[in-house]
Amino acid sequence: MTYSTSTKASQVFNKKRKVVRKAFDAEKLIDLCVRQDFSDYAERFDLEGTDRFYWYKDNGSPILAVAHLDSVQKNGTCTVTRTSGGLLACSGALDDRLGVYTILELLPALGIKCDWLLTTDEEMGQSTAEEFYTDSKQYNWMFQFDRGGTDVVMYDYETPERAALVKESGARVGQGSFSDICNLTQLECAGFNWGVGYQDYHSPRSHAWLEDTFRMVTYFVDFYKDNKDKKFPYSYTSPDWGDDIWHRDYLETADCGHPVDISNPITYNLIDKDIY
Ligand SMILES: [Zn+2]
Repeated sequence: MTYSTSTKASQVFNKKRKVVRKAFDAEKLIDLCVRQDFSDYAERFDLEGTDRFYWYKDNGSPILAVAHLDSVQKNGTCTVTRTSGGLLACSGALDDRLGVYTILELLPALGIKCDWLLTTDEEMGQSTAEEFYTDSKQYNWMFQFDRGGTDVVMYDYETPERAALVKESGARVGQGSFSDICNLTQLECAGFNWGVGYQDYHSPRSHAWLEDTFRMVTYFVDFYKDNKDKKFPYSYTSPDWGDDIWHRDYLETADCGHPVDISNPITYNLIDKDIY
């Protein structure tokens, strides 16, 4: 019996995905969906303002993994059910607690322990990521698993070369408007936001078919192995908005650092429609 190249490729992929599926720990996901105290994982840094903070841990990696702890739905109680379509996770907090679980537990179980940054206030468009600096480190690149679909977006960090490397891992490159890594231009490295499979993510019916998660993590493992030692630099030049501070702050959180024209909605993506 002979196999076509694509059949062989899918067999290899399925073998790798099996490893990811085996590494999954439902109890840990259930715990991380409701956990408030992350001192087992990282150190808390309190910022100016009411309850503004992030957690950070230098694990000695040249790669920074980012996830946000806040979610639109307050009830994060998570259930994981075995179905004929594979494991189904349901929790109002999957955006982005599924990403939190992926970077803190699933990837380390697969031998990938990056530095960790856990932010808050992302859903309000005021992520504490924007106040994160490291004096001592220059990261090669950063990533998150904070995306509903099963593609990878790079925002302003995208170049044809980086897109080609993502595709080499098997993943699809998509378009996105905003996430935490857009608030980390000060780190001067590129960022990648990987889809993690959650659906209906701002609603109480938020759920994820975990086979989607496992597929994306499988692609990521290959991407990480091929690229962890490469530097993907990014330099951000702040647009000159003069003295109009409100204007400038708003625009910086509006669309990933694009210099946009506030009078022309086509040039930006509104994150928080209540801002008007
Ligand atoms: Zn999110």
